[in-house]
Amino acid sequence: MSLEEITARIRKAEAEAGRALGATELIAVSKRQPDEVVEAVLAQGHRVFGENQVQEAAGKWPDFREKYNGAEVHLLGPLQTNKARQAMELFEVIHSLDRPKLAKTLARLAQELGQCPKLFVQVNTGEEEQKAGVLPGDADDFVAECRALDLPVVGLMCLPPVEEEPSLHFALLAKIAERNGLDGLSMGMSGDFERAVALGATHVRVGSAIFGARDY
Ligand SMILES: *Cc1c(COP(=O)(O)O)cnc(C)c1O
Repeated sequence: MSLEEITARIRKAEAEAGRALGATELIAVSKRQPDEVVEAVLAQGHRVFGENQVQEAAGKWPDFREKYNGAEVHLLGPLQTNKARQAMELFEVIHSLDRPKLAKTLARLAQELGQCPKLFVQVNTGEEEQKAGVLPGDADDFVAECRALDLPVVGLMCLPPVEEEPSLHFALLAKIAERNGLDGLSMGMSGDFERAVALGATHVRVGSAIFGARDY
């Protein structure tokens, strides 16, 4: 699907939900895509991208940024504390703040660097064993802890279980965000971004629908 088609579908979902047109930001997820296809989207003027790994992003974004001004790159995948400094230097936004140890490390580095990316707290809405994110029942305390550390938490992120109806998870995430006074909702991917927009997503993360299947 072209970038225009995806954008049109997002605008339509916003209109149907009675939301302001343009309320949802499209993050083009460029992880594991060949450089040419990412550059084609940059050349069309799109500037907001998502990556899953610090290493992979470090390999390609410095060059892309040199060629195309104004790119904003979001880290979507899990972040190890030993890569936190590099991540803070590479990304404008991090969507995977998911544990106290990482929060403390980011807070210390923010002091040292004098800056910090915007942060989304990842919530494991499906309470899946293998998945990152704080449990829904721990989210309020964790958000408070991050705020006490002066971290710029702007919203919540979730990655629903593949076999479940995502809308239930999007609604839960929206509820947790609302009671914590957070505006940002990072939810919805290629298969379900319209449902996420209907439930208030401010950031949808769309990869394969834009770029095609990934090369694993
Ligand atoms: C890969 C990935 C996406 C994009 O997934 P698609 O199904 O290709 O749209 C979104 N969010 C996260 C966290 C991802 O890892």
